[in-house]
Amino acid sequence: MTDIAPHGLHHVTAIASDPQRNVDFYTGVLGLRLVKTTVNFDDPGTYHLYYGDEAGRPSTILSFFPWRDVDRGRQGTGLTTATAFSIPPESLGWWQNHLAEHGADVVDPPRDRDAAGQAEEVLTFRDPDGLVIDLVASPGDSRSGWDGVAAIPAEHAVRGLHSVTLTERELDPTASMLTGLLGMHAEGGDDRARFDMGDAPGAVLDVTATTGAPEGLQAGGTVHHVAFRAPDGQTQERWRQQLVDAGLEVTPILDRQYFTSIYFREPGGVLFEIATDRPGFDVDEPLLELGRHLKLPPWLEPTREQIEASLPPLRAGDDVVQGTA
Ligand code: ZN
Repeated sequence: MTDIAPHGLHHVTAIASDPQRNVDFYTGVLGLRLVKTTVNFDDPGTYHLYYGDEAGRPSTILSFFPWRDVDRGRQGTGLTTATAFSIPPESLGWWQNHLAEHGADVVDPPRDRDAAGQAEEVLTFRDPDGLVIDLVASPGDSRSGWDGVAAIPAEHAVRGLHSVTLTERELDPTASMLTGLLGMHAEGGDDRARFDMGDAPGAVLDVTATTGAPEGLQAGGTVHHVAFRAPDGQTQERWRQQLVDAGLEVTPILDRQYFTSIYFREPGGVLFEIATDRPGFDVDEPLLELGRHLKLPPWLEPTREQIEASLPPLRAGDDVVQGTA
């Protein structure tokens, strides 16, 4: 047994193509805040764009690697095939209209789905790269979301992450890792097996197992990895050792500037990360300025000039974030 017990989703990271289109969609249409403009630390010629609530709190964050020439991926087994955000139940109709007005690709209008024996109302759309996003009606989610976008009234704002859905060829190997090693609680469910990490919002992971689906292809419009929350670095270090002792291949603890991270794969192939809640996105710029300037970690600052030269211009609202635009 382990004492690993992540207290929810920390963030989801996905793959996009055009960074400007990505910023325009997630800030202007979905109404998230761009909380950090930085680069992929493992590939500094590419942006890493983080969106979330006002402060980019854990469990509200979706981030992207926009690789300009990336091919479109294919949904299928071994991938995280949906990322869900929580909205107030009375906002579903508003979101359906809002997405239609902005020409978003609504895949399924609001409908009920079975989630561990309970009906759950959900609206599904795709972002401009094809990434599948669910908006789930969530009574009792007290998070406030981000109210800085004029076109989105605060009462309808996206509250934060609700869940992710993994699609797997077989349920059992993944389920036994989630419950046995990662301390999640199985809530049941037939088509959609639900696992939770406690009662906090943004602490749900669903698995759909399907033998018929094609194998997923990770590229544009698909999720790269899912990160879970560790309260602090000491806990992360202990959990890492327990994962290693259980026979998993786990990366060393990596400094991601806004949190520290470890990565490993679940049996179906999905890349998991465990990330710390701190220090958070205001570690290198004040809360009011989040996302408005290209931030680099100290070890990349010496090469800022080359990095900036390799990045395309980027605007966020009225701000020129990078380049002369
Ligand atoms: Zn990550």
